[in-house]
Amino acid sequence: MDDRGDVVILGAGLTGLSCAHHLPGRSVVLEREARVGGKACTDRRDGFTFDITGHWLHLRDARSKALVAELFGYGDLVEIERRTGVFTHGVMLPYPFQANLFGLPLSIVHECLLGLFEAGRRTDALPPGASLQAFAEHRFGAGIARHFFVPYNTKLWGVAPDKLASAWVTRYVPVPEPSQILAGAIGLRQEGLGYNARFLYPTGGGIDALALALAGRLEARGDVELRLDADVASVDPVARTVRLVDDRVVPYGRLVSTMPLPVLVDRMQGVPDAVAEARAALKWIRWRYLNVATRTPAPIPEHWVYVPEPQFPFFRVGIFTNASPAMAPPGCGGLYVELTDRDADPDVPAVLAGLAAMGAITRPEDVLFTEQHDIEYAYVVFDEAHAAATATIHGWLAEQGVLSCGRYGAWVYSSMEDALLDGMEAAAWVRR
Ligand SMILES: Cc1cc2nc3c(=O)[nH]c(=O)nc-3n(C[C@H](O)[C@H](O)[C@H](O)COP(=O)(O)OP(=O)(O)OC[C@H]3O[C@@H](n4cnc5c(N)ncnc54)[C@H](O)[C@@H]3O)c2cc1C
Repeated sequence: MDDRGDVVILGAGLTGLSCAHHLPGRSVVLEREARVGGKACTDRRDGFTFDITGHWLHLRDARSKALVAELFGYGDLVEIERRTGVFTHGVMLPYPFQANLFGLPLSIVHECLLGLFEAGRRTDALPPGASLQAFAEHRFGAGIARHFFVPYNTKLWGVAPDKLASAWVTRYVPVPEPSQILAGAIGLRQEGLGYNARFLYPTGGGIDALALALAGRLEARGDVELRLDADVASVDPVARTVRLVDDRVVPYGRLVSTMPLPVLVDRMQGVPDAVAEARAALKWIRWRYLNVATRTPAPIPEHWVYVPEPQFPFFRVGIFTNASPAMAPPGCGGLYVELTDRDADPDVPAVLAGLAAMGAITRPEDVLFTEQHDIEYAYVVFDEAHAAATATIHGWLAEQGVLSCGRYGAWVYSSMEDALLDGMEAAAWVRR
């Protein structure tokens, strides 16, 4: 690219692909897997199409809208109005819980509204660094926190929400006006709240269409070398080389990494003690989920449903075929089930019984197959150590001339749209 040598990008997820796409000259992309897309890839089996749980594309920024418009032809994407629910106390409420209390037992509606009034009377500001639980209690009151935020987030994070910082996560929490909460409590459905009321999805099914479209553009250019099955073993920031597991060495002028931050630090040579300590403080959660194929369509219309109650062994269920019927053979259904326990083998009959109880499948006998998958780095944990640890690591990497970006490279919580934008910004960093 210039006299500093080639730009090398570690990882061909959306951030890495977007970075290469936005660089005008030569770059080398090294990807460990045999396919592009990272978390935004797709598995296919027997006519069923499964993303890595739900991967719905929400675009807000003009730059990402322009990029997606450039990558897809007319009709390749459909825009879908979100249908999401919360299944609790035997009822399917519209999402978000806090704005749709109608249908719950009256004693719970009363407790939630009382908490809301008490929260409304508070004059103290939410302190900086407040926990997720403190945020929910401060904003919505104790009842809504107790019946949704605390049980749901405990299942999702595997950590009590009073141990989680709220800063990054609350961007995605819809905050209805008190008048909307009251309306929802008396049965006036409150829909379309929050950041993701509509989403885009590839018409033919499979979010990998996005990464494949980007990779197609890179291949057509001829000056981007996209190497699959290229597992990075170590990075020498002094010699400016990347060594692969098969011992091949790739020199670089500028290095952009989108691998998970702890993976990058573990592979960097010459890591000082303070950075090693900061790396040891990074926490994340693994994800275990089931793909479920059924011979009948899902009885409920939702695209995804939050399930806060502890007696269900999952916290969220999504129905791919309610968004794109092309994701299963005609008349069949395809679902993902995000499991609370990420260590033990799932009790599949109990999961299927739970799905039938909430109406996501007709009956367990209709299930053609289930398939278990794990994601090692699913969600970054925002505890009290997060801010200082990431600042120390990124500061040292910057001194080494390395940019670590994207959801896992930056070590944050963000979306596919953010990944596309992070890639653009990484390309701007390279060109500086
Ligand atoms: C369960 C789940 C659901 C989600 N749902 C949504 C959603 O509905 N909508 C939305 O917008 N976003 C969603 N996201 C977020 C979205 O997946 C990410 O923001 C985005 O895909 C991140 O892209 P990335 O390129 O930064 O990271 P990744 O996709 O993780 O890409 C990093 C790449 O680095 C590669 N790599 C790792 N180690 C090495 C190595 N040693 N050598 C070489 N390469 C390596 C990986 O194989 C991978 O391809 C979800 C995420 C998860 C986990």
